[in-house]
Order: sequence, then C-alpha cells, then structure tokens
Amino acid sequence: MTKEEILRTYFGYDSFREGQELMVDSIMSGRDVLGVMPTGAGKSICYQIPALYMDGITLVISPLISLMKDQVYSLNQVGVHAAYMNSSLTPGQNRTALNRARKGQYKIIYVAPERLETEEFMNFALHSQICMVAVDEAHCISQWGQDFRPSYLNITRFIERLPIRPVLSAFTATATREVTEDISCILKLKDPQVLITGFDRKNLYFEVQAPRDKDAWILQYMEKHPGESGIIYCATRKNVDEVCALLKQKGILVTRYHAGLGDEERRRNQEDFIYDVKPVMVATNAFGMGIDKSNVRYVIHYNMPKNMESYYQEAGRAGRDGEPSECVLLYAPKDVVVNQFLIEKSNENVDMDGESLRLIRERDEERLKRMTYYCITRDCLREYILRYFGEKTVNCCENCSNCNTQFEEVDITGISQTILLCVRQCNGRYGINVITQTLWGMRQAKLKAYGMLDNQQYGKLKDIGEIRLKQMINKLLLDGCLMQTNDKYGLLRIGPAGRELLSGEHTVIMKLPKEDVHAVKEQDSGKQKRRTDILNSKGLQLFEELRGIRTKLAKEEGMPPYIIFSDKSLTDMCVKVPMNREEMLEVSGVGEHKYQKYGQIFLDAIAGFTDGKKEIYYYEEEMHA
Ligand code: ADP
Repeated sequence: MTKEEILRTYFGYDSFREGQELMVDSIMSGRDVLGVMPTGAGKSICYQIPALYMDGITLVISPLISLMKDQVYSLNQVGVHAAYMNSSLTPGQNRTALNRARKGQYKIIYVAPERLETEEFMNFALHSQICMVAVDEAHCISQWGQDFRPSYLNITRFIERLPIRPVLSAFTATATREVTEDISCILKLKDPQVLITGFDRKNLYFEVQAPRDKDAWILQYMEKHPGESGIIYCATRKNVDEVCALLKQKGILVTRYHAGLGDEERRRNQEDFIYDVKPVMVATNAFGMGIDKSNVRYVIHYNMPKNMESYYQEAGRAGRDGEPSECVLLYAPKDVVVNQFLIEKSNENVDMDGESLRLIRERDEERLKRMTYYCITRDCLREYILRYFGEKTVNCCENCSNCNTQFEEVDITGISQTILLCVRQCNGRYGINVITQTLWGMRQAKLKAYGMLDNQQYGKLKDIGEIRLKQMINKLLLDGCLMQTNDKYGLLRIGPAGRELLSGEHTVIMKLPKEDVHAVKEQDSGKQKRRTDILNSKGLQLFEELRGIRTKLAKEEGMPPYIIFSDKSLTDMCVKVPMNREEMLEVSGVGEHKYQKYGQIFLDAIAGFTDGKKEIYYYEEEMHA
C-alpha cells in the first residue's frame, strides 16, 4: 500500500495535513525526524503511517498511561494491531503482551520510558526487528522543558544497545529553541528532517477576562453553553472542589480530577468525562495529558497558569476535531502571587546543584512574567502566543477577545510620566496597590504611615478609574518603562525604557476599550461557526440520531464515543448523506475498517431517516462561507 492508501484505508482521511507528508516521507526513506507541531495538529499519523509501511516493529515511547491507552484503542478501532506495556498492566499481562510481540503480532507497541530499562524488555528488543523508535512528547527529555522526565534520558542508551539502529522520530508541541536543540542532541538524531509547523490553531478563539466574581462568570458561561463538553482548569485542589460543587449544585453534569483523589475515583471521573456521561470536567493541571477527547468545546482557566507552554498545551485540548472552540483565561492579579509561591516551592526538593536550580528558577520566573503579560496585553492574543513560540504573524486575527473588542488609541504619555515620577520618588519601595492608591489620592492611614501623602504626584490621577489606572501600569510594565521585582511583593521600579520616557524621548500610546462594546461584540463577533452550525434543523435532527447510535455503540463496546466516530465525521455524514458503501467511504474519518464495523449501521440509520431520498440538510451559503 502507498502512504496515501494507508491514510485513506485505515484512517479514512483524504489528504495529509500541513507537514505530515514531509515527516512520513522522511521516515520512510530512513531519515530521522524531529516534528514540532501544536496539540491537535496530527502528530500521531506522522509515525503511524510509516510504522504500517515499514517492515518490523515500531516502538512508541510515551510518558503517560492514559495517552498510550487512547492511542492503542484508536489504532485497534481502525484495524491496526497495536499494544501497550506499562505499569497499569500486571506483570503477567505485560509478559503476555511481550510474548505476542515476539511472535510478531503487533506493528506498533507503546511503552513507558521506564520499561526500556528492564532486562525482559531489552531482551525482547535485542531479538526483534525494531524498525523505528518514535519518541512522543519528546520535550520530556529536556531539563528546560516544562515536564522533564529523567527516565527519558534512558532512551539513548536503549537505542545504542540495539544491534541495528532504528530510524528515530521525535515529536513535541514545545517549540522553544533550547528544548528542540536538547531533543536533537540528547537523542543523537542523525541529520534529522526538522519540521516546525505553524503553531496557530485557527479554530480556537482566545479570550482573557478579569471578572470581579469568577464563579458568577462561570455560571453565566455555562448557561450559554448547555450540554457542551468543556474543561475548567483551576490552580489548586481546593478551587477544583469548590467550582465543581458550585456547578453540581446548579444541576450541571460535572466531574472533577486532581491528585488528591484516590486512583479509583480519578479513573471513574475521567471515564465519565470521556464518555460524555459528565461532559464538564473541573481539574488541576494533573488532568489532561494524553486526553484525546476530540469534542472539547471550551477550556476555561479559572486561574492563570505558570507559563505560556502550559497554557497553550492545556487550552489546546479544546477543538482537536478542528471545530471552533473557545479558550478563556480568567485572570486576577492574585494568580501571579500564587504562581510565584509555587515556583519557589517546586524547586525545593529537586536533587540538583545550586547553580542549576538558580537557572531553572530564573527561567520559571521569566516564563511567569511572559504569561502575565498575555493576560494584560491589549494586542492580538493569537499574535502574542505565536510570537512567544517564535513565529511571525499578522497582528490582528479577528478571532480573539482583543481583536473583537473595539479599542481606541489614546496618547497617555503625560499620565505615564506622572506614574513614573510617583514610583521614582518612593525609591522602588512599593507595589502596584500603594502606587495606585497614592495617584488616586486615597485617604488611608497606611498611605500616611508610608509617607505617600507627601509624594508630589499624590492625587494627581484621581479622575482615572482604579482598573484603568492598573491597566496603564501594566502597559508600562509590558513596554519596559516599569519593572517589577520577582518576589511576592512585586515592587515597582523604573525600567530602562522609563528613563527615556521621563526625558521626553518617546510617547506612550495605549489601546482603551470603547464603552459599551460588549453587546456589539456578542452580536457581531468574528468568531468562527461550528461545523454543526452549517446543518439546518432537519440536518441537526439527523445529527442527533446518529449521535444516539454512536453513544449506544460506545456503551456496548466500552469505548469513548469519539473513538468510534468524531463529531466531524457525523456532521460530514449529514452533509454528504451517504446511501451506499462508496459514498460512506467518502466521509471524513471513515476508513475501510471502520466501514466494516459500523458503516452499515449508520447507512441504515441514514436510509431510515431520509426514506432513501437525498435532501439537503445544510445551509448552502454557510458551507461556502
Ligand atoms: P496531536 O498528537 O498532534 O495532538 P493527534 O495525532 O491526536 O494530534 O491528531 C488530532 C486529531 O486530528 C485526531 O482526531 C486525528 O485523527 C486527526 N487527524 C490527523 N491527521 C489528519 C488528517 N490528515 N486529516 C484529518 N484529520 C486528521
């Protein structure tokens, strides 16, 4: 079979996505590859197709049990013989899997890195034909990556012991240069074909909000998104429990996940979410790596995460099926302090020398700063993200909350100078709150005690609202006119650009939101339409019917519904209304094997619904929009 035939027959897709073909071709020609692609871009197919094409076994090194399980289920569904070996299986089960592997029953085997060190596994590898080792989540090999896993360092030793060096392929969604260089160097990739695809996920809408009452905001959001599947990430277990209880009380089908729950409860809750029994998940960041639930329509961050890498990875769990989905971050200045504390704590028990610890800590703090800037910038959020990952982009995406809010540009040079003078006069002794209160001219005993009533700028900006004033200070931080100390106090100092500003060398222009733009935004936003939005009312009825069949099949087989067919495939069925095998195979995501298993059931349902007459179940103008 050719690579195109494998793509079509097994996976049911017509064409490769950006970059996939280059990776597949390179591996098939025996060249190492390093693929840097965002979550949801389709990294798995890059190594799965060559694995099916080449003679021998492909080992996929993967850090997480849930990730392996999901991938193996999906592969078995499309007719590929695959297995996983990790600590979730009993020693007996692992041995059985190894015995089968020895007999050549699997083309693809997923293993945890720890397993490579066992003699039993090494023995198997020494006597088998390993044609490729694919390293998934390859950033785990780098100390500078956000999820360093020391056991990843064993991969190189393992490969060096093999009689014939297999092709190596490594994949990650972390694009910073240090991390990609580390991967290439530590794995000793030979002249790898490197692919760094665009990090843009066009179907994701990015939004930052700073609501006074986050709970009220979430409840309102839930009302607008009934029945949809989503994840709400919280920074602490306590927050998870509280938000989950709040939603439950309102009758929402919600579950939770954090490291404080027992294994059994975590497993059950995760399954309830994946099987759509409880479509809303409230969790800490312990949840999600390896969750390939394709119909997650929103990811809300109740707190700001510690860095952009984590944020983009977690937010990226929305919309893996390519349908429009939302990523909302609820920001509060307190989140910065909490993260600062976590950084200090996280490095306490690490077995590393002082110098390395200091470097890692500095890097973490820098990352936190860049994350904070994301929350306060008024520029295009997508552009900010992409720039962070090293990409140049247009500076207005029209699919984020900043682009969709109407701003007007205002010259705030004079105000900025007043703020800087206030900071300068108190010699960097105070943080944002005291400076704001001083500029505002508040009458507080605290300010008197600090001597701020004598500050020459006291009360000079009393006409500017508190929030607006803080936004301006944030803008000055973002531009480097002000700096903040990296401790829990966050004391303000004059930054390098601030000195130029004070000497009148440049101006400060800030975008401020025009009032009353929210109503307009709701009505006339540039948000993308969901695929199901293209279906007319009868189309939606058919969709619901097919969805019901999918749920029933999923229950019978003990599989997550999306592993049977994605929402995208079901929508495509409603658009194409297939009446026979050939037409069904035209539907995105329907390959030979899935057709054999489920094709007839869905064809019958469609024939029953349509009475054998092909009607148009979608809005034609929307299809072409
Ligand atoms: P990643 O590992 O990069 O996060 P996955 O490999 O899980 O992404 O793929 C994300 C989704 O995209 C999966 O549902 C997958 O089946 C789908 N997909 C991958 N390649 C294609 C393609 N060429 N055409 C259509 N869908 C694809």
